[in-house]
Amino acid sequence: MDVLDARKKTGKGRKVGSTVTKRLLTGIARCGNCGSGLASAIYQRSTPSYQRYGYYYLCRVAGGGCGKLSRSGPPVDDYVQEILLSHLKTQARDVTPAKPEGPELEAAKAKLRQIESDKVEARRLRASDELSLSEFAREVRRLEDKEQEVKELASLLSVTPARAGSVAARIVREWDSYTVDMRRAEIARSMEAVVISKAGKGGAQRGRFRPELLEIVWR
Ligand SMILES: [Zn+2]
Repeated sequence: MDVLDARKKTGKGRKVGSTVTKRLLTGIARCGNCGSGLASAIYQRSTPSYQRYGYYYLCRVAGGGCGKLSRSGPPVDDYVQEILLSHLKTQARDVTPAKPEGPELEAAKAKLRQIESDKVEARRLRASDELSLSEFAREVRRLEDKEQEVKELASLLSVTPARAGSVAARIVREWDSYTVDMRRAEIARSMEAVVISKAGKGGAQRGRFRPELLEIVWR
């Protein structure tokens, strides 16, 4: 609360009174130098960086960080979203079961095997004339009704595999209409952090985005 109050008073880097500057990767992006969660700030107006990028991420001493790292915001945001969406697209295609079969599904499958062997037995009894044709027909009908019922139950129990994939497909489809908060939530669900490293000696080429300085830590 003290930190928020201080921001309201100074208005540093934002309109006085405003504390709402959560960018896409605020707190998710981390400083590769000290590990602190990065904050965001607006470039000084009238600078080329302001014109081009608007905002940037930074490691803040006031936030407990080393204060030695900053990076233009939009290229990082674009890159991370691109990576996440391609990750989700892969998930959407994946149809392998998300979890092992539960005991109910096991039981349903055992029942189906039992019904199958009852049908074999009924056919055997009919072949040896121990069942009349009408008795045989009734028995087969009973077994087939039962089989239908158990199959429906089994298909209800095994819908889970496709679910993770369809959720991922929906997120990809609707991403453009998501708010920043919704996007942040989805990123945080898949990614533990996005670690941003310093460019190092001679690495500070102006205006060139370097994805190799970003490391995605998946959950
Ligand atoms: Zn730092």
